[in-house]
Amino acid sequence: MTDIAEMRKSIETIKASLPAGVTLVAATKTVPASVINEAIDAGITDIGENRPEELCEKYPLLKKEGVRFHLIGALQTRKVKSIIDKVDMIQSLDRITLANEIEKRAREVDRVIDCLIEINLGKEEGKSGLWPEDALDFYNCLQNYPHIRIRGVMAVPPVGKTEEYYNILYKIYADILKKSKNGDIIDIISVGMSADYKEAVALGSNMVRVGSAIFGKRQYSL
Ligand SMILES: *Cc1c(COP(=O)(O)O)cnc(C)c1O
Repeated sequence: MTDIAEMRKSIETIKASLPAGVTLVAATKTVPASVINEAIDAGITDIGENRPEELCEKYPLLKKEGVRFHLIGALQTRKVKSIIDKVDMIQSLDRITLANEIEKRAREVDRVIDCLIEINLGKEEGKSGLWPEDALDFYNCLQNYPHIRIRGVMAVPPVGKTEEYYNILYKIYADILKKSKNGDIIDIISVGMSADYKEAVALGSNMVRVGSAIFGKRQYSL
């Protein structure tokens, strides 16, 4: 159980520690909608869910005014349709088949969806994300998707060697920025979680995704 008073204090502390311009996304997997609404009351403006099913389940119960919804977990192509009218940003875009589906479904509902290119910085097996050397080609391929607006990069780096990985991510971001056209807004580096968000921000992140430091240890039995 999340202690609401404690949660409010955590949100306050984390927000106070973040420089202006850094977005705090609350990572809400396994957190009940009622608790997420308390977090929204306490000043959370960005909600990150991992699983489309969980997002769809909680979505009708969640406060929405001034709140942005992010999909931050691996996304199966066949699940895109269920979330396309709910999310403001998909942070886990990592393959063309997924881009094709997002484009198709976003067109159907007449939306342009902000997306981040997810990078598998450590080339870890079983983890989603493109390999670092493929990121720029992938970005170039996405130029002709009118319903997808690439805003930057996202990663869940391997544990340890943080600085080295963050530098790789920053370099990819800079390369994409350089390749972007007039009018594109490439402005987001989404990296950093409960254990390392301060370090992440010090190394260039401007969007952190924090779960357990806000809500306490996750209860997977939920
Ligand atoms: C769970 C999760 C987080 C937050 O993790 P914590 O360690 O609880 O802060 C961030 N990003 C993604 C993609 C996650 O799945």
